[in-house]
Amino acid sequence: MADIIKLLPDHVANQIAAGEVVQRPASVVKELMENAIDAGSTSIKLIIKDGGKTLIQVVDDGVGMSETDARLSFERHATSKISSAQDLFNLETKGFRGEALASIAAIAHVDMQTRTADNEVGIHLKIEGSKIVSQDVVATPKGTSISVKNLFFNIPARRNFLKSNQVELRHITDEFHRVAMVHPDIEFHFYNNGSEIFNLPSTKHRQRIVHVFGSKMEHRLVPVNEETEVVKVSGFICKPEFAKKSRGEQFFFANNRYIKSPYLHHAVVAAFEGLIKSDTYPGYFLFLDVDPSSIDINIHPTKTEVKFDDENTLYAILRSTIKHSLGQFNVAPVLDFDHDPNLDTPYSYKEKGAVIPKVTVDATFNPFQETSARKSTGSGFHKQSTKGWEDLYEGLGNQNDNHEFSSVVIESESEEQGTLYTGQDAEEHMAGTFQLRRKYVVSTVKSGMLVIHQNRAHERILFEKFLGEITVKEGVSQQLLFPLELTFNKQELGVLKEIKESLTNIGFAFQSLEEETVKVTGVPMMVPESGIGTVLDRLIADYMEGYADGSISQAEMLAKALSRNLAVRTGDVLDQESQLTLVNNLFACKEPTLSPFQKITYTIISEGDIDKKFN
Ligand code: ADP
Ligand code: MG
Repeated sequence: MADIIKLLPDHVANQIAAGEVVQRPASVVKELMENAIDAGSTSIKLIIKDGGKTLIQVVDDGVGMSETDARLSFERHATSKISSAQDLFNLETKGFRGEALASIAAIAHVDMQTRTADNEVGIHLKIEGSKIVSQDVVATPKGTSISVKNLFFNIPARRNFLKSNQVELRHITDEFHRVAMVHPDIEFHFYNNGSEIFNLPSTKHRQRIVHVFGSKMEHRLVPVNEETEVVKVSGFICKPEFAKKSRGEQFFFANNRYIKSPYLHHAVVAAFEGLIKSDTYPGYFLFLDVDPSSIDINIHPTKTEVKFDDENTLYAILRSTIKHSLGQFNVAPVLDFDHDPNLDTPYSYKEKGAVIPKVTVDATFNPFQETSARKSTGSGFHKQSTKGWEDLYEGLGNQNDNHEFSSVVIESESEEQGTLYTGQDAEEHMAGTFQLRRKYVVSTVKSGMLVIHQNRAHERILFEKFLGEITVKEGVSQQLLFPLELTFNKQELGVLKEIKESLTNIGFAFQSLEEETVKVTGVPMMVPESGIGTVLDRLIADYMEGYADGSISQAEMLAKALSRNLAVRTGDVLDQESQLTLVNNLFACKEPTLSPFQKITYTIISEGDIDKKFN
C-alpha cells in the first residue's frame, strides 16, 4: 500500500490553528493589543467598526519590525519572544506561541504598516488568506499599525455565527478593559464607529480603574496589599455595600495577565462572607505576582485559564489578605442594605425545579367566611379576558354554566353573590383565597385546590404587561417632582442608550444620556422612587448577561428582566385584595402556566388526590 500521510500545507494548518485562537473579533483585539504591549508601546489606539466585523485596527508606538521580521511575523511559530523550551518557564511577555498573526492572516484581510527607530521608512504589507498580496515602502511613524478587515471572509459558517454588533462590541470592550487595567502606565484610546469611547491617560492602578469604570468607583475601592513568599497580592476590592447582583467587576490578574479562576474567586467570596448577601458578588481587581515557574499558562490557547502549583496556599493567603483589608479599612458589616427588600431577586429559584407544594392545613382558614375583598376593587379585572381561568373548569361536568362561572371569578359584578348559592355549591363559589407560607396563594376550583406560586405568577403577569407596553408604547409614566440623579459608567450608559426607546415606552423618562450623571425625570407607575437606581442597575446587568448569551429580542429580554426585578417575592405578605388580583391577572395572561423563565406557576391538587390521603 502506498504511503498516505501528508503534511498539511501551511495555509490549512494556519486555518486550523485560527479555529482555536480566533473565536470572535474580541480574540483578535486581545492578540493585537498584547503584541503592542510586548513591543514596549507607551500609547495604543484601538479602532473598531461594526463590532469588529468590518474593521479591527491597533496602532502602537512600540519597537516596530524590520522588513524581514514583518514578513516572518505571519509565519506560524514565528516569535521573537522565546527561543528555547526553558524560556517558557520564565515568560515576561504576553505572547509566546507565535501563532496569533499567522492565524489571523489565515482568515482575514490584514494590512500592516511598521517601522523601527533606526529605519527611515517603514514597510507596508497586505495579506489575504495567508498570502502576501502586496509589499511597499511607506512613510509611517515608528511603531506598528495592523488592520484586520473582513474577519472570517473565507469561513462563512464562522462569520454567520457572530452575534450582533453590540454583542461583539461588548466582548471587545471586555478584552479592552482587561488589557487596559493591567497597564495603567500605557495610554489607551478606543474608537468605535468613529467616536472615541475610551481615552485613558497614563496613570496608576487606582485611577485607571476609575477611568474605566466611572467616577463612582472612586469611593468604593479598598486597597489590598500583601507580600508572602508564595505570592504578592495587590489591587483593590469594592466595599461590601456595593456588591452587585451581577458578576462583572471581578478581575484577577496573574503576572499581569487576565485570568479566570473559579477557585480563587471563591476565596474572595469567602472573605466577604457575612458582609454581603448570598446572592450578590463583591467587586475586585486583584493582581497576583507569583514566581513564573510556579504557574502554567500554557494549558489553554486563549490563555485565560492557568494552573498554579500551590492553589490551596494561594486560596488561604488570598482569603486572609482580603479579610485583613476589610477589617483594616473598617468596613463594618452592612446589615441594612438600604434598599427595598421587595426588590430582591430570588436567583436561587432559577436553579430549582418546579416545586410540588406540600399541603399544610391552615387551621384558621374558613372557606365559608365572607371576605370584604370579594367586593369590587375597581381595578377592572372583569375587563380582561378570563379565558385561562375558564379552562380550569372545562370538562368538569355541567354544574358550571356561564352564570355560575362569572361568580367564581372572584371579583364578581354581583353584590348579592353571597345569597346566590347555597348548600354544596357554596364551597366552590364562596371560597376566597389564602396565602400559604407567604409563598403560595391557594384557592378552590371545581376539581380541587388551586395552588399558585406567587413569585412566578407575578413574573408572568408583569412579563406580559411589559412586553405589551414595550411593543405598543402605552406604559404609564409617573413624573418625578425632583429629577433623580444617578451615575453610570460608560458601558452602562451604552446599554441605557441601546434600550432607551423600550424604557421610554414603559414609562421611564431621561433628560439626557450623554454624561455619567443621568437625570431620571419619570418612571413606570410600578417602580417605587426609592428603588429606581436598583431597578436600573439590575436591568442593565441582566440585559448585559442575557443579551450576550441568548438571541431573544430586546423587548423580551427587557420584559423578563423587569418582571424578575419587580415581581412580588416569596416571603412577601399579600393582602386579600392582592391575592385576588394575582389570581385573576394570572388567568388573564396568554400563557398562565409558565413563568417567563419556564417554571410552573400553578398546580391543581385534585379532590381525588386529597381523598386518597384519607384512605
Ligand atoms: P507571539 O506574540 O506569540 O510571539 P504573534 O503571532 O502574535 O506571536 O507575533 C509574532 C511576532 O511578530 C512577535 O513575536 C513579534 O516579534 C512580532 N510582532 C507582532 N506584533 C508586533 C507589534 N505590534 N510590534 C512589534 N512586533 C510585533
Ligand atoms: Mg502575540
